[in-house]
Amino acid sequence: MNILYHSTRNSSPEITASQAILKGLADDGGLFVPVKMPKLVKTFDELGELNYKEIALEVMKLFLTDFTDDELKNCIESAYDSKFDSSEIVPVKEADGAYYLELFHGATIAFKDMALSILPHLMTTAAKKNELKEDIVILTATSGDTGKAAMAGFADVPHTKIIVFYPKHGVSPVQEKQMVTQKGANTHVIGIEGNFDAAQSGVKAMFNNKELAVKMKDAGYVFSSANSINIGRLIPQVCYYVYAYAKLLKDGKIKENEKINVVVPTGNFGNILAAFYAKQIGTPIDKLICASNKNKVLFDFFTTGTYDKNREFVVTKSPSMDILISSNLERLIYKICGENSNVTASLMKELSENGKYTITSEMADKLAGFVSGYADEDATSEIIKYLYDKTGYVIDTHTAVAAKVYSDYRKESGDETVTVIASTASPYKFARAVLGSIDPSFDSLSDEEQVDKLCEVSGVKIPPAIEEIRTAPVRHNTVCETEDMQKEVEKYLGI
Ligand SMILES: *Cc1c(COP(=O)(O)O)cnc(C)c1O
Repeated sequence: MNILYHSTRNSSPEITASQAILKGLADDGGLFVPVKMPKLVKTFDELGELNYKEIALEVMKLFLTDFTDDELKNCIESAYDSKFDSSEIVPVKEADGAYYLELFHGATIAFKDMALSILPHLMTTAAKKNELKEDIVILTATSGDTGKAAMAGFADVPHTKIIVFYPKHGVSPVQEKQMVTQKGANTHVIGIEGNFDAAQSGVKAMFNNKELAVKMKDAGYVFSSANSINIGRLIPQVCYYVYAYAKLLKDGKIKENEKINVVVPTGNFGNILAAFYAKQIGTPIDKLICASNKNKVLFDFFTTGTYDKNREFVVTKSPSMDILISSNLERLIYKICGENSNVTASLMKELSENGKYTITSEMADKLAGFVSGYADEDATSEIIKYLYDKTGYVIDTHTAVAAKVYSDYRKESGDETVTVIASTASPYKFARAVLGSIDPSFDSLSDEEQVDKLCEVSGVKIPPAIEEIRTAPVRHNTVCETEDMQKEVEKYLGI
């Protein structure tokens, strides 16, 4: 079956998967969605015999139908290699009656590596397929994690360059160290004297600058984006939910066709949407449990039917979930309004004009497969300590939000369905917050000492990503004013 894509805000034109990956966002501002949902071909018994890379191929070829099997195999081999510190790629760990799907064994020890290590290869393959003459320049604004994961993915990938802007005074010391030590002749990192919103606005302005586009084209360059609305990031995330189910079945933890629940710590709604797609293509999933931190705009949406971003932005210990506009929710809205692009477009217009919208009760009825909850800062710390004291297993602050929401749901509902929790970051990435939850006296330790203490406490080896930044030389030290971002890009590209 050939799968084409169109915008959530307009059902035409229909374009191929490779074109959608190159474009990222539709011209009307909508997100690309498959015109039809494919279905898994192999049974889960058969999938249980396959390793992660083989399952990734089975899933990706359903969605990316204008790529050949050989092209996808090459992309998968280049992505899920020794950059991962586990040959299983995504190990599944049982603790306190739940299965933790560890998505953080890649280059930057957060789940974004799952998609950002393959996106560059999908993009360069798509460029060849569409006879793109120009080199791709990825332009990204980051609040810390995405920029590093994108650079790690694109470093030294031929015919690409990546430029990342981050708020010079708005990221954690580990995040900054990770970025400024980035290797790769095609990577460029710039700190700006402004906040994340300023970085994002500057990047958007460059994307929309027609004059700059012409100048770029003359020099043999074209811009593209690596942010999480690209289907080239979404589809690789569907694979690990299919893998998790196949693995649980193979290991005898569930019976054939037995449904499981999935819990996802959510920010931009990308990861949980991938689980929803996994369900749509035939993975026996019952409840999708959406876990938020104190920025609980999604919890309020699921419980009231109103999405309202007009509220105070709270800075939490799970910063990658500190978000008030969950872009990927648009794809779910499209689904529950009966795949109606006019309705989707008008709700999104309300969101951009008033910062809120309300869905109809018919649409709300279609959300029955979702459960939502949220955890505040104390509850997040408490569950890290509880799980460690009880089992010795140490989770990061984002995963802890999911664990807490699951624990509440299980108590309230009595639902004992086998459950997978998406574990989105290594505790090493948020060592101070994690150790402080286990024993507040650890807070007096230096950043360096925290790493060693976490190793001692968790019994988990220090990941290469952390070892590396302890000694890596700084390679990037450009800092600029917000209004000079374009000048910096032109200087770097020599245009
Ligand atoms: C990005 C991120 C999330 C949120 O994922 P979404 O796909 O944006 O919902 C959760 N945890 C960590 C560690 C992340 O980096």
